[in-house]
Amino acid sequence: MQAQPSPTVEHGFPLLLSPLRVGPLELRNRVVMGSLHTRLENEPDGIRKLAVFYEARARGGVGLVITGSVSPNREGRVEEDGSVLDSEAVVEEHRPVVAAVHGAGARIVMQVLHAGIYAKHPQLVGPSSRRSPINRRVPRALTTEEVEATVDDFVRCAELAARAGYDGVEVMGSEGYLVNQFLAPRTNDRTDDWGGSLDNRMRFPTTIVRRIRKRMGAGFLVVYRISAIDLVEGGMTADEIDTLARAVEAAGADVLNTGIGWHESTVPTIATMVPRGAFAFASARLKRAVRIPVIASNRINTPDVAEAILQAGSADLVSMARPLLADPDFVAKAAAGRGSEINTCIGCNQACLDHIFSGRLATCLVNPKACHETEFDDRPVPDRRRIAVVGSGPAGLACAATAAERGHEVTLFEADRAIGGQLNMARRIPGKVQEFGELIRYFGQQVSASGVIVRAGVRADWQMLVAGGFDRVVVATGIRPRTPDIDGIDHPKAVSYLDVILGRVRVGARVAIIGTGGIGHDVAELLTAGHAGDASVDEFLAGWGVDTAISTGGGLGQPAAAVPVREVTLFQRTTQTPKARLGLSTGWIHRTQLARRGVRTVMGCTYTRIDDEGLHYTVDGKPEVCPADHVVICAGQDPDQTLVAPLRAAGMDVDLIGGARIASELDAKRAIDEGTRLAYSF
Ligand code: NAP
Ligand code: SF4
Repeated sequence: MQAQPSPTVEHGFPLLLSPLRVGPLELRNRVVMGSLHTRLENEPDGIRKLAVFYEARARGGVGLVITGSVSPNREGRVEEDGSVLDSEAVVEEHRPVVAAVHGAGARIVMQVLHAGIYAKHPQLVGPSSRRSPINRRVPRALTTEEVEATVDDFVRCAELAARAGYDGVEVMGSEGYLVNQFLAPRTNDRTDDWGGSLDNRMRFPTTIVRRIRKRMGAGFLVVYRISAIDLVEGGMTADEIDTLARAVEAAGADVLNTGIGWHESTVPTIATMVPRGAFAFASARLKRAVRIPVIASNRINTPDVAEAILQAGSADLVSMARPLLADPDFVAKAAAGRGSEINTCIGCNQACLDHIFSGRLATCLVNPKACHETEFDDRPVPDRRRIAVVGSGPAGLACAATAAERGHEVTLFEADRAIGGQLNMARRIPGKVQEFGELIRYFGQQVSASGVIVRAGVRADWQMLVAGGFDRVVVATGIRPRTPDIDGIDHPKAVSYLDVILGRVRVGARVAIIGTGGIGHDVAELLTAGHAGDASVDEFLAGWGVDTAISTGGGLGQPAAAVPVREVTLFQRTTQTPKARLGLSTGWIHRTQLARRGVRTVMGCTYTRIDDEGLHYTVDGKPEVCPADHVVICAGQDPDQTLVAPLRAAGMDVDLIGGARIASELDAKRAIDEGTRLAYSF
């Protein structure tokens, strides 16, 4: 079926917000909430919390929800306690979620995912016994009979999903999971009917789809998530993907969802530095191959980007998962012309994917209420109090806006003329400019809409705060950059990261950076990027060697050669890999990018002095010198608690949050979470 735009056009996003018939379903708009693993189901009272979580997104206007992954058998579960739907006994657990979503006017399909060789448990199986580079366990190859039985398990799982009330299923055929593993020569060296030729490799997905369609009939939505570009060697070519897309359509799929890259791919696909809509070209390719509707995905985080993709004809629907974690009311706000109030997902992965990968409950850096919906009481406070918040970094902004929304009278003091604190540093780093700008935009809007009295350009002292008659003072004054005790630290070559990021010094061609934390890496990025803003889509794709024509299997070409802008070396005293200080799922991106630009890291060093030559240090007692025009100090932070003692001495109630409370390991995630939670405690 060719997707037909409907003629509802009295708002700003005419295509995005218009209904669409997909298979047997009439969707109220083109916004699909993509599959997202939260781990809520593993929490005490998890089913109810999951229902509340999805209901909030459905009430917020999403057209179609695709659940987190559910496996068709035990071998296929993603991790030891991963969800499985393989018996009647489990059906009941799904009903509250389905009822909640239906009750809020949206449709819901369950994603059926077999992890194959990615499974994090000992019973893992695959098309072949080839180990994945991102899993230490070696899979057992399925026998021919077991492949047949696995197909049956997919069909049975779909049948059970229908019994739980789901409107359909999504067969997960991308991201390098089992279905994808059958398709790619990289992971399938079988010699039976399920391996070898393209027809044989396609047999697994097409048989699954055909049999689900046959068993469930026309009234059940079948979504197939296709890997539109594998981004690994030994993946599929464009011709093979097109052939697969048509075969899946012929087998009975109602709609194709776009998957981009395998988990083991060394091309970033969803991180902040990936430009918005960078992979729309892959959905556009699929649309040319099939007649059924196509869903675009990856780094689509605003209604404008979504609408532009639809207007360009690159897709019929748009999938957003993390943006709906960030703001459950995304669609409702877009529809009401309140787009500037949307809390935008910045692609950091810090609280969603990184939490999941480390076995924790997912949440969201910009929205700490995500997956914690049942912990917050949004009723207005009975006693309106006068609260001063000092410092408008992420902690102070979150606290001020939330407290004011709850009904308190809040005054926010900021010494600078602009709000944002450290966020204003982040927004100067190439790859972060646009998204950190959004974070400041969102909080600025919240602060103003909630009636916070903003006193920017005012450095609050304790006397002023005591005289102000506040009931309590929240100290969110942030951090002070640490000045390490190194001989020559006052030398003109030694500069603070603040001087560099704020452009207060003209940095020379050879640079030594002391400190390999997030800020050290950010400074290295800034000094070697060769451009001030974020990369364009074309620059990003060329820089990472993405072959948009997918002329060779996997679509990996040669990354464009980096033009060295400066000679930069990072230094640290400890010997632990610097990756440990960076984001779990994003640190490798920064490290790879910097390595391509020739940035070196020296570990285990003792600093001797900074002088006209540069940075002197020893490693294993051996003296070395790094000739440098500048030595940038990124040696961590100390909390700025100047106000606390005098305020307490004056009898004020004082709370400390963010970097002012603990500076080490500080990031915007903890700052926003602390600010928000404190505001709920008043
Ligand atoms: P950090 O991550 O704590 O790193 C501080 C660095 O300074 C370390 O490399 C440390 O290495 C070194 N150091 C500490 N004390 C020192 C001393 N006395 N003398 C010399 N070197 C010293 O702090 P940060 O880089 O300032 O980042 C602050 C926070 O901002 C981070 O926790 C991070 O979450 C967040 N952030 C993250 C990112 C990102 O992930 N992209 C970007 C920006 C900021 P040794 O002790 O080994 O020498
Ligand atoms: Fe987006 Fe970061 Fe929130 Fe994840 S944690 S949903 S990437 S803003």
